[in-house]
Amino acid sequence: MHDVLQRLDNAARQASRPTPDLLAVSKLQSATAVSQLAQAGQRAFGENYVQEALAKQAELVGLPLEWHLIGHLQSNKAREAAEHFDWVQTVDREKLVDALARYRRDDQPPLNVLVQVNIDDEASKHGCRPEQAAGLAAAIAAQSRLRLRGLMAIPAPEPDDARRRAAFARMHQLFESLRDAHPDMDTLSMGMSDDCELAIAEGATMVRVGTALFGQRAAKAGAPDR
Ligand SMILES: *Cc1c(COP(=O)(O)O)cnc(C)c1O
Repeated sequence: MHDVLQRLDNAARQASRPTPDLLAVSKLQSATAVSQLAQAGQRAFGENYVQEALAKQAELVGLPLEWHLIGHLQSNKAREAAEHFDWVQTVDREKLVDALARYRRDDQPPLNVLVQVNIDDEASKHGCRPEQAAGLAAAIAAQSRLRLRGLMAIPAPEPDDARRRAAFARMHQLFESLRDAHPDMDTLSMGMSDDCELAIAEGATMVRVGTALFGQRAAKAGAPDR
């Protein structure tokens, strides 16, 4: 973990930006691996699959961890997501906004929410189109059980650094433009193991790092720890 924190610090210093928050992406990693990072001081963990996350949370109950859902969320899993996560980073349609607000319990703090933006307009990808982000942000902000924190993106795989960086820059622009209406938004989640430096240079406030922290993941099919 030290190496990754060092990378984030270095990138932030070079870009003259604040060091971003580190979300440790623990999908397809064991509860033991999560607990080891927690002992080293990491609090925030990202999971892609609701069922896998619930099983891991049950093994780690008692640890003061913050759980982020970063995988695509189907509406029929909205209740479990609303009750068992601290953040949902993948809100990309109004139906999901309504469902999460309905199921977040009154005895819980408001659910932290990011709007997932499909910044490259890939046909196959999840996330709203950039021009839909303002409407979704307003819908989230209108819900008392939800707290709008910002935007999240997974840009298309792109070998060319300049183009990848351009996608991050477009996200930053969108983020800043929405902050006029939502000045409390404080989170721009973008950048992973192999491109977090580029994302930080373009203003990421949270990077989502899996492989560089945990090593390679087990294959999804037949992974022993789910
Ligand atoms: C898996 C995943 C990550 C982490 O990817 P690495 O390359 O392992 O760092 C980040 N964000 C999302 C949405 C992911 O699904």
